Amino acid sequence: MFRIGCHLSMSKGYLAMGKEALSLGANTFQYFSRNPRGSGVKPFDTADADAFIAFAAEHDIRKVLTHAPYILNSCAATEELRKASLEIMTEDVRRLEYFPEAMYNFHPGAHVGQGTEAGIGFIADLLNRLIVPGQKTVVLLETMSGKGTEVGRDFEELASILERVTADREKHVGICMDTCHISDAGYDVKDRLDEVLETFDRVIGLSRLYAVHLNDSKNPLGAHKDRHEKIGEGFLGTGTFSKIINHAALRDLPFYLETPQDLQGYAQEIRLLSSLYQPDEASGER
Ligand code: FE
Ligand code: FE
Ligand code: ZN
Repeated sequence: MFRIGCHLSMSKGYLAMGKEALSLGANTFQYFSRNPRGSGVKPFDTADADAFIAFAAEHDIRKVLTHAPYILNSCAATEELRKASLEIMTEDVRRLEYFPEAMYNFHPGAHVGQGTEAGIGFIADLLNRLIVPGQKTVVLLETMSGKGTEVGRDFEELASILERVTADREKHVGICMDTCHISDAGYDVKDRLDEVLETFDRVIGLSRLYAVHLNDSKNPLGAHKDRHEKIGEGFLGTGTFSKIINHAALRDLPFYLETPQDLQGYAQEIRLLSSLYQPDEASGER
């Protein structure tokens, strides 16, 4: 089935996000675990979380994705900054264990001149400390556009990080593919989607892909800019998104919009994409 949602604000709590998602026609959503630029977090409200869990079960809202604050940098230049990132992420992930099936997405980081190899080492090190074997929450590395010194600018860099995660943690780590970011990184999802996904499968493995951020891009292939655009209004265009959401390798994954929209704009994009999704008739899907 088609699972689609958008980015929502956590300011009114979990149940409020669930209700908002439903009102927009979404059956999943993403939110920032805390202020994206800061580190403050509200005390955990068990009653609100319980109410949300019941509401989500009742309305088939699933595969909710929590996004780490993007100010964190797990491969920062100082031990102190790297430790601060690990502490915040650890607090977020422990909290997510309360929910039945959580996913936690983060930007791998920026090596800030230390070099890609060093960055990859720090990120793998963070994952090996963050993940407790046996946890439920799956931690996702986001594919990046390659602006500045970002690590995760190609599938090889992400594969190198995954390879350094210890075997007992492996099933708790995956990838979130951002369509704007990979186009900006130079992967031609617009005209060569099959090839891009074959490359992903060969280098990382499609079984490691858990989620897709659906964003058009303000910039052309390989621009390394990371400026999201509304669906159909950017370089990728509506036809690309129709191919992406219907592709055999992607169609059963959850899709999250991070386009520059207000809530009504998101509702419109959700309606548009739902109308473009073709049910798989062989499986009796509707
Ligand atoms: Fe992101
Ligand atoms: Fe994204
Ligand atoms: Zn982005």
